[in-house]
Amino acid sequence: LSASDDDLNPIEKDIDRALRPLSFDDFTGQQKIVDNVKVFVEAAKQRAEPLDHVLLHGPPGLGKTTLSHIIANELGSEIKVTSGPVLDKPSDLAGLLTNLEEGDVLFIDEIHRLNPIVEEYLYSAMEDYKIDIMLDSGPNARTVQISLNPFTLIGATTRSGLLTSPLRARFGINARLEYYDSKLLTLIVERSSDILNTPIKENAAFEIARRSRGTPRIANNLLRRTRDFAQIKGTGTITLEISQLALDALDVDSHGLDEMDNRILSTIIEKFKGGPVGISTIATAVSEEAETIEEVYEPFLIQEGFLKRTSRGREATDLAYDHLKLKRPGNTGT
Ligand code: ADP
Repeated sequence: LSASDDDLNPIEKDIDRALRPLSFDDFTGQQKIVDNVKVFVEAAKQRAEPLDHVLLHGPPGLGKTTLSHIIANELGSEIKVTSGPVLDKPSDLAGLLTNLEEGDVLFIDEIHRLNPIVEEYLYSAMEDYKIDIMLDSGPNARTVQISLNPFTLIGATTRSGLLTSPLRARFGINARLEYYDSKLLTLIVERSSDILNTPIKENAAFEIARRSRGTPRIANNLLRRTRDFAQIKGTGTITLEISQLALDALDVDSHGLDEMDNRILSTIIEKFKGGPVGISTIATAVSEEAETIEEVYEPFLIQEGFLKRTSRGREATDLAYDHLKLKRPGNTGT
């Protein structure tokens, strides 16, 4: 199961929309971020000013897009959604910016993938709500300055390390989303099953939660599949047995590690004697981009204690050996 929504069919997309929290009160977890952002939103509303620009970073599926929609809702503003790679030319950005009403939110997903020329246009837009547009070319070339309605930019990124410092400096609010613990994910699974009208036992919700890689998107995906099993193989209610049956059938491992997580660990152990080994070497061995490993897989593996980051590279921990049922080679005899 991937951590992306791209492969959902239209009905599943509708379900996904139905499960998306619409207000701060509906949004579970990330308590500190939510508490702070609530204050900033309220203060901006009282002053009748646009909210300061917001940068949300963290692994995929943790709620960056959801939170951006909630912020717009709570501001009582419209949100326009785009993403870094889509904004090819400055004119693409100018088109969006000039269509914003006062106080609107512009959401740019994958903002670390902005074309540098487009990014530069964004600076004056963020800072002074102005952009310079080039008219004509050659000897007739001239620029005109266009004033924009004051707006809020919300940028989301899985790779905050790739953001240029001038861009980063222009965000007044900067928040890093963390993986969710099983208790919070249990609440999310229970809320989602409620919306889907599917009865679920508490221990079953917990089982799905603890095998969801700390990620609400994965928890919701697993819930949908488990619901199918409950309907076909059970009585419609998601029990612990049904959830275990479904999760095993879906090859979700007992810790919720996905195929790539396990591949990274077994590669470090089997090909590199458990490490330490450099990230780019691992990347080549598992045919994945080093950046993706660093931003998507590694943080969870480190948090859960399967992987250690040392100055000489990445090392598999005893927990990783246990998990893969592999024996750590002894210091003698090999
Ligand atoms: P991101 O933008 O970080 O990749 P999304 O905002 O698209 O993540 O969230 C993925 C899915 O997970 C959403 O469809 C939403 O239903 C669900 N979700 C994310 N965060 C929460 C949360 N805190 N509470 C409930 N559901 C959530």
